[in-house]
Amino acid sequence: MAELCSVCGHTVTVDELRICPSCGHYFPLSPEQRIALIADEGSFVEMEGSMQSVNPISLAGYEEKLKESQKKSALTDAVTIGSCTIEGEAAIVAVMAFSFMGGSMGSVVGEKITQAILEGALNHCAVILFTASGGARMQEGIFSLMQMAKTASAAALLEETRTPLFIVLTNPTTGGVTASFAMLGDVILAEPGAVIGFAGPRVIEGTIGEQLPQGFQRAEFQLERGFVDAIVERKHLKKTLSFLIKTHKGREVSHVG
Ligand SMILES: [Zn+2]
Repeated sequence: MAELCSVCGHTVTVDELRICPSCGHYFPLSPEQRIALIADEGSFVEMEGSMQSVNPISLAGYEEKLKESQKKSALTDAVTIGSCTIEGEAAIVAVMAFSFMGGSMGSVVGEKITQAILEGALNHCAVILFTASGGARMQEGIFSLMQMAKTASAAALLEETRTPLFIVLTNPTTGGVTASFAMLGDVILAEPGAVIGFAGPRVIEGTIGEQLPQGFQRAEFQLERGFVDAIVERKHLKKTLSFLIKTHKGREVSHVG
């Protein structure tokens, strides 16, 4: 199926890697496409697939917006979690979908990320989180902000059990997700060209009254400054993840102090 590239403006046909053949731009992957790319065929078993958000602050229109997003994306919320194997190595994965309300983190995203992390900690199984988010889900008010502390606390449990946490930052990863679990990985990978930051460049320029350097907040810029450990092309992602799992195995401890 031909698609319009948002960067070079060409109408192109992309393969399963979903990279523009004209300019190299990475098209977003749905959780299903992402899982197909990295998990061994037929190995993915979804967890908490039916979890849905309520309207915790009774915001007018939120329930309708949720239903509309669910219908449009065929997802229940902005993250899909489950277990799989990657070149034979067991992993718990969570894949965020920017297409679902901007990948915003509300109580369902926070809870599912937390459950994925806890499942990994309990079973001494590597956890891999693919992030894509505009930040907190404003429609859930304070409940969305609480997810930052909750996911970060869960990540600390991985640290205690010495279970590895790998992050793959995809375009864009910003706001409360960057400010919580996305930066807590033992190894933090990023896709080429991904925007990674907290506030947007216009907000920052307005606050500090200075012009920002070129390429600000791109993965390559964050790699140079140490926020990202490696930029991995999609074609190498599966191999890279299985290598990371293999080389971090066997150090887990059961004791949680
Ligand atoms: Zn292009």
